[in-house]
Amino acid sequence: MAKFEILSGLTFVDRQGWGAKTAFPRQGHRVPRSKRTHVIMHHTVVSDTSDSSPSVWETLSEVYLNMRRLQTIRPDLGNDVPYNFVVYLMSKNDGIVVCEGRGEDRSGAHTKGHNTEGIGIAFAGNFDDETVEGIDVAKRMYLLSGFLGWLKHDPSHPSYGTFRAMKHLGSMRPADRAVYVHRDFKSTACPGKRAIPHLSQLAFINPNDY
Ligand SMILES: [Zn+2]
Repeated sequence: MAKFEILSGLTFVDRQGWGAKTAFPRQGHRVPRSKRTHVIMHHTVVSDTSDSSPSVWETLSEVYLNMRRLQTIRPDLGNDVPYNFVVYLMSKNDGIVVCEGRGEDRSGAHTKGHNTEGIGIAFAGNFDDETVEGIDVAKRMYLLSGFLGWLKHDPSHPSYGTFRAMKHLGSMRPADRAVYVHRDFKSTACPGKRAIPHLSQLAFINPNDY
């Protein structure tokens, strides 16, 4: 089980850490890290309904419960989290928690035609909802940039393991952003009008350089 901080405020939790139900094993096929060229951002549309801030999460236990829910939310795509990673905006210290979905080494089921070379990352919540505060997204983008940089430059940790970097990640990108959004490939609101304007802040920043 691994749960560790990549940067102060940026916590990574693997499948064991959030308690993935073993009845629903990891899906997808193996993808070499050298094949990953781009990131595609999504939103899960599943909000935190326990309080008045549906896009900000208060506790790790509600995050872990939500991840287990995402394992079976789209049976048509297979009973597993369809994204490589899911990002939770946390109320505590304006942090984020990144939970492993398919993870670094498996194909996803998030963007038709881009599930092998692309890494699909979803914000947990419905970011098309008018009530979402853009500032909640904006002030955490430097942490997500640290995660993107961790994948690209140094995706290892003593309590996780030593892994190969995704050195080509970000080599394919749209003209005006470091990452794609689902809407770049399909007629959809995903990842939501309250998230999209802030994604131009993202970059692949090596966490060792912060
Ligand atoms: Zn999407």
